[in-house]
Amino acid sequence: MRVVSVYIEHPVMQLNSPFHYLLKGEDYLARGMRVKVDFNGRPLVGFVDSVEEVEDIEAYQKTLDYQLKEIQEIIDTEPLLNEELYQLGLWMSYQTVSPVISCFQAMLPAALKPSSSHKPAAKERWVVIDDQQLKKEFEADEMLLKDFLQKCTTYRYSKYRKAALLHTEDRVKQAQSGQLRINPTPYELTEKQKKALDDIEVSDNNVVLLHGLTGSGKTEIYMQLAQKALIQGRQVLILVPEISLTSMMIERFRSRFGDSIAVYHSGLSNTEKYQQHQLVRQNRASLVVGTRSAVFMPFADLGLIVLDEEHDNSYKQDSTPRYHTRDIAIKRSQYHHCKVILGSATPTLESYARAVKNVYQLITLDERIFQQLPTSHLVDMNRQVRQGNFIISQPLAQAIGKRLENHQQVILLLNRRGYTPIMKCAACGEVLTCPHCDVTLSYHKDEDKLVCHCCGYSQSADVACPKCGSRKWRNYGIGTQRLVEETNRLYPEARIVRMDADSTTQKDSHRRILEAFRAHEYDILVGTQMIAKGLDFPDVTLVGVFNADGPLNRMDYRSVEMTFDLIVQASGRSGRKETEGEVYVQAYDVSHYGIRLAVRQNYIAFFNNEMQYRHSGFYPPYSYMIALMFAGKDPQLLEDAAFKAAEHFRLDDRLRTLGPSKLLKRKDESRYRLVLKCADRSYLLEELWKWYDQQTYNRHQVAIQVDVDPYILD
Ligand code: ADP
Ligand code: ZN
Ligand code: ZN
Repeated sequence: MRVVSVYIEHPVMQLNSPFHYLLKGEDYLARGMRVKVDFNGRPLVGFVDSVEEVEDIEAYQKTLDYQLKEIQEIIDTEPLLNEELYQLGLWMSYQTVSPVISCFQAMLPAALKPSSSHKPAAKERWVVIDDQQLKKEFEADEMLLKDFLQKCTTYRYSKYRKAALLHTEDRVKQAQSGQLRINPTPYELTEKQKKALDDIEVSDNNVVLLHGLTGSGKTEIYMQLAQKALIQGRQVLILVPEISLTSMMIERFRSRFGDSIAVYHSGLSNTEKYQQHQLVRQNRASLVVGTRSAVFMPFADLGLIVLDEEHDNSYKQDSTPRYHTRDIAIKRSQYHHCKVILGSATPTLESYARAVKNVYQLITLDERIFQQLPTSHLVDMNRQVRQGNFIISQPLAQAIGKRLENHQQVILLLNRRGYTPIMKCAACGEVLTCPHCDVTLSYHKDEDKLVCHCCGYSQSADVACPKCGSRKWRNYGIGTQRLVEETNRLYPEARIVRMDADSTTQKDSHRRILEAFRAHEYDILVGTQMIAKGLDFPDVTLVGVFNADGPLNRMDYRSVEMTFDLIVQASGRSGRKETEGEVYVQAYDVSHYGIRLAVRQNYIAFFNNEMQYRHSGFYPPYSYMIALMFAGKDPQLLEDAAFKAAEHFRLDDRLRTLGPSKLLKRKDESRYRLVLKCADRSYLLEELWKWYDQQTYNRHQVAIQVDVDPYILD
């Protein structure tokens, strides 16, 4: 008889070892296939880790502290994960200190997840032509029915069918991909690009940090490297941080390499994801463009991985397993023996520090293709406010007017959606907060609602003050909706479009807004950070950054870096083609080095400054960090758990233990956080696993969330 070890999602405990089940009969079962099992009377779907032949089941049973039960059903006919991906899942589980099953879940499209047991079976009807003569006539052996009916009347079709010249079949719907073509590069590479390309190719370092100004021709370098890989018949993976950037990247790659492209991002439906996954699995797509989760695509032979805008937060997954896409990409490149290009104008300090130490190959593009960098102006908002310019400063307002007159386009970046972030009672000063989170409610004028940006809770804005009953409210701060209103007031003829999480809830809305803006159907694009990244609009010659020092208020070791990145990235959208560009950065804390150096676009000076601060605080990249979060409904239980853990780790003098600190309530959950720092990553991981494996909390009461190399501590 066979004994099968199966990874399941334990219903109560945060356990990570497989459970054993019996398999009678001769059915094919192998690692990476899903099975249905019973766990304490609950039906669960599990993932097979191993299958072994056991002679003496009774002896085997004695080694276990639970009763062996039979596998109830085998779901798949073949493994869902090949050996590379299976090993990757195990590795990822160790590196991120998370359950193996959660890693497999993160790696597969929803339709194939270990917790679900059914594949989507969207079918479509095909016409299969059986008659030789007819095959010649239609120049095909088979065709989708809907295509066939384009070429022939319904009447003739039913005649053929009755005469048995053809029949129909329902087949599982598959995404179609087209032909790979290699079109010539439409221009000469610049000397700098040529040199960068040569240096990358001769380097024996497989990880390359391509540090290039915005508009310096990085994407062209990606395409040149992609071309080489594609010609060798290998696959190429291009990762971008945001859905809004996939369509632009796809367009650029499609016009160069044809239609053999798969797309993968969270905006697709489950069926679409499954189909795109199949395209890659069956090696029917040469190029994959996608966001974070595309890094897990089942490639057969990967020849290049590009991680564009490598500094971007969205490459770090913010739920279990909290992996970083860069780590996964590098791991996969080792298996496939291919290069990983990390591209950015503002690399993370970690990556740049590694490149300086030659852990990565450093390649620099320090000139823009067309223009010099845009001229940047720092605007002191303290003075502007005194003059009565609360939202748009006077110099920026003037600049907008000038650009509009010249039929050029403007981007205004404000990293806060809604109308205003705070509503205060005009009578007593009471601020409205979310009933589920310790967060103020934002006022959204478009929908006349109060919205929690943390949990999505919303209520009518027509409320009485819970403290004094007054119905008069004052709005504080600005959000994108209010900025649009103000811009509209100043420039009534300007055509303005807003892009933020609220205006892009519909499928495809990102692409539609950006295309319309590109086609110059709008003059001004107002949006949150989703418009700061990577976009390449030739007619944009002015960028305004609002509340640029806002992120500095976060109590986070990364907040200066995030402030710097946002300003530099936003500035990079201006003046990318022939016309010179301008940038206005509005801030209150105008003497801060993060702001000043960002306005001057001086990454190296920023890096040196910031590294000193990180050094003195023993922050990454000088240390490795793990954040431990304890979350649940009962604050006392959590506090006890957190303090107990802190005590445990404090005994170890190779670790620095900070906290626990109580965080703001979120979605009705209290949270405590402990931060561990250590100079030695593998030691830190080992110690954490030792501790983690001993935790027997019911995860519905005390959920332990581990974040290795946390990006954001908020
Ligand atoms: P980045 O990715 O660094 O922002 P891009 O690769 O998008 O830069 O290049 C900026 C612009 O310059 C794009 O419009 C691109 O088509 C164009 N470009 C890139 N390389 C060249 C070149 N060698 N000659 C002419 N135009 C180029
Ligand atoms: Zn009041
Ligand atoms: Zn809330």
